[in-house]
Amino acid sequence: MKVAFIGLGNMGQPMARHLLDAGFDLTVFDVSPALRETFGAVFATTASEACEGADIVITMLPNGQIVRDALLGSGGALERARPGMVVLDMSSSDATGTVALGADLKALGFAMVDAPVSGGMALAGQGKLSIMAGTDDADALARCMPVLDALGSKVLPVGKLGAGHAAKAINNLIGAAILGVTSEGMVLARRFGIDPGTMLDVLNSATGRSGISETIFRPHVLERKFGVGFALGLMTKDVNLAASLKDGLGVDLPLFASTARCWNDAMARIGPATDFSAYLTYVEELNGGDAITNPAKADS
Ligand code: NAD
Repeated sequence: MKVAFIGLGNMGQPMARHLLDAGFDLTVFDVSPALRETFGAVFATTASEACEGADIVITMLPNGQIVRDALLGSGGALERARPGMVVLDMSSSDATGTVALGADLKALGFAMVDAPVSGGMALAGQGKLSIMAGTDDADALARCMPVLDALGSKVLPVGKLGAGHAAKAINNLIGAAILGVTSEGMVLARRFGIDPGTMLDVLNSATGRSGISETIFRPHVLERKFGVGFALGLMTKDVNLAASLKDGLGVDLPLFASTARCWNDAMARIGPATDFSAYLTYVEELNGGDAITNPAKADS
C-alpha cells in the first residue's frame, strides 16, 4: 500500500515518522521546504507528486479550508492522483466543510474518511493517538484501517462523513472549558491564599479532577513551561467549530457559548501562537498580571 502524507507540523511530523518506522511505503510533503532535510528522499517536490500512485493520502493540516485548497487548488494534491484513492483527513477540520468536500471528491472519483485525532505530539510519535473516524464509505474506512491502527491505540468509528470532525470539535471545546475553568479556579485559590500546587492536589483527589488537571497542569501550567505543542489559535479554532456547529443546528448551549467567548478573548490578548496551556496567563492578565506560581516552588 502506497501512502502520501501532507502536512508535517507538530503532529504530522511524528505521525509520518512513526508510519515510516512501521514500514509503510510513504511519500511526504509540506509547504515548508526546511522539512526536506528532516525527511530526505521521501519528501516529494509537490503535493501532487506525493500523491502519484498513492492508495491513500493523509492530510494533517491547520484547518478544513487549507485541506480543500491543498487537494483541489491549482497544483493541488489530486492533480495526478489515481481515481479510487482515499482522502484521509486527520486534521481537525469543520464537519460541514468536510461533508461538502466529500461530495466534491466523490464526483471526482475519490473516497473520503475524516479521522481527526486526540493526543499530543508525544502520543503521535508512539502511535498511541485516539482517532475518531467518520465516513459514508465502509470500504474506504476498511482500506485505511492498517494506517489508523498504526497511528492510534484507539480507533472509534463515529458514523457518517463529518462525524469524526464534529466529535473532535465537541471534545476539544469540552477540554478548553476544563482548562479554562481550572485556570480560573487556580487564580481564585491563590487570591484566597491557597498554594496552587496544593489546590491542584485537592482537585486531583476530588471531583474537579480531569485528564487536563492530571497530565497538563503541573508540568506545563504550574511549572510555567507551556510546552504541550498545541497552539492556542488551533484550540480556539476547534472551540469555534463546535460553537458554530451548535449555532448551525440551533441548539441552545450557554456554556459552549461562553467558552467560545473566553477563548477568542484569550487569543486576542495572548496571541494564537502561544501554547494553549498558557490560557492561565490570560486569566492572570485579567486579574492584574501577577503570576500565581513561581516555577521553583511549583512542586509542592
Ligand atoms: P502545525 O501548524 O504545527 O502544522 C501544520 C503544517 O501544515 C505545517 O508544517 C505547515 O507548513 C503545513 N502546511 C500548511 N499549509 C500547507 C499546504 N497547503 N500544503 C502542505 N503543507 C501545508 O499544526 P499541528 O499542531 O501539527 O496540527 C495539525 C492539525 O492537527 C490541526 O488541524 C490541529 O488542530 C490538529 N491537532 C493538533 C494537535 C496538537 O497537539 N498539536 C492535537 C490534535 C489535533
